[in-house]
Amino acid sequence: MTPAILALDQGTTSSRAILFDHDGRPLGTRGRPLTQHYPQPGWVEHDPDEIWAGQLETARAALAARPDADVLALGVTNQRETTLLWERATGRPVYPAIVWQDRRTAGHCERLRADGWETPVRERTGLLLDPYFSGTKLAWLLDHVDGLRARAERGELTFGTVDTFLLWRLTGGRVHVTDPSNASRTMLFNIHRLDWDDDILHALAIPRALLPEVRPSSAVVGHADPALLGRAIPIAGVAGDQQAAAFGQACFTPGMAKQTYGTGGFLLMNVGDRPRPSRHGLLSTVAWSLDGRVSYALEGAIFVAGAAIQWLRDGLGIIADAAESERLARAVDSTGGVYLVPAFAGLGAPYWDPYARGTIVGLTRGSGRAEIARAALEAVAFQTRDVLEAVRADAGVDPAALRVDGGMVANDFLLQFQADVAGCPVERPAVAETTALGAAYLAGLAVGFWADQQEVARGWRLERRFEPRMPAEEAARRYREWQRAVERARGWAAPEA
Ligand code: ADP
Repeated sequence: MTPAILALDQGTTSSRAILFDHDGRPLGTRGRPLTQHYPQPGWVEHDPDEIWAGQLETARAALAARPDADVLALGVTNQRETTLLWERATGRPVYPAIVWQDRRTAGHCERLRADGWETPVRERTGLLLDPYFSGTKLAWLLDHVDGLRARAERGELTFGTVDTFLLWRLTGGRVHVTDPSNASRTMLFNIHRLDWDDDILHALAIPRALLPEVRPSSAVVGHADPALLGRAIPIAGVAGDQQAAAFGQACFTPGMAKQTYGTGGFLLMNVGDRPRPSRHGLLSTVAWSLDGRVSYALEGAIFVAGAAIQWLRDGLGIIADAAESERLARAVDSTGGVYLVPAFAGLGAPYWDPYARGTIVGLTRGSGRAEIARAALEAVAFQTRDVLEAVRADAGVDPAALRVDGGMVANDFLLQFQADVAGCPVERPAVAETTALGAAYLAGLAVGFWADQQEVARGWRLERRFEPRMPAEEAARRYREWQRAVERARGWAAPEA
């Protein structure tokens, strides 16, 4: 038999299940896409039963494909902030899952801001007052769906983010728990006291009894119902997807950072055992809790990373597939002064400008599709430098290297340019599935499959390191030009005064 850990990765667009061996090598992966529902402009929902069915099916398939695997524990990682409410007695959802991208509570956030909640929310939760997070989504359910508030007050309902919902279902309703990494994305959790914040709950009129118990990210919190997976596998690791990726990248010491280049981009830097407030547009968040210790991170999200490449393909039609962006970018020596700011949905960290819109500047008669493709890739690296500048300003340190993952890291041009423009080495690991691996590590540490974090850190293997090669003056000049281009994009869609 091969000892193994099962990781369940419930993402925004798919459910996946991966078995990992002791070397952190994937033994087998199963995945299933998840349907996106857009019932109104700005609304995004998932069907909770589809989330569950997809996760259960992929877990069973991964186990069935490796009858030789002796599964010692399972870990869960998940799309964060997405909000679910279900019946305590039956586990039946009372409404679709409201997905993190959903903007329906923008007005509520404005009212809270007018009532002076912005500063307390930032200080206590580390977050910005934004519809992105779970708190106002849960309040919306109680305020707008008939009968839910009365039922909540009678104790009939229970709230959870996706981790909590999966754990509830996996244990046949026996546990109602979350971990601090997920709790810290609800806007209801005080990251200093590590407890739900009664004042914020009161401001949002959310009964505390709806909320799960907060348990460590690495601990046995229950067992999977044997009727589901054939045996009572201990559930021993839970973390939100970006925090799990940082764990899978073994970013264990302060100053270590990872960037995930997926549809969007998420940079997390470990800041140690105390939360670090941000004055430069980052989020201050719990990374994980383990062995009685909590680690914190600074986080910067950019909305458009791989999505810019999707736009080259589907919007402009200048590439046939994502990989062609690299061949095209390499077909020219430079963009010839062209900058593309992909602010298709406003700008995230560190600008937080909902009115910014995409722009291409510096076009000349010689600019063609290669220059534009190259500018799109460069923009992903420049946006990452924007976040790194904010990290540097908030934390006072530069990461020694940037560990990278996500679909775009297949692009060597991007990673070399990233190293050049950030002036910081970029490291691509051998195991690309860092999010699932992080959940597996958290679970495996709790059951002694891995002895300690040192052992996990030693297991992290480099596939390729990209060293900065561009002269520093040139990188600085290019970055200044990028910042000028960003200025052109900002505020574009603001209502006219
Ligand atoms: P997500 O988890 O957000 O769905 P993934 O981590 O799977 O995203 O990454 C997919 C993204 O990576 C897509 O937006 C795609 O355009 C981009 N991508 C994939 N391969 C490449 C490549 N070789 N060069 C540039 N971008 C790529």
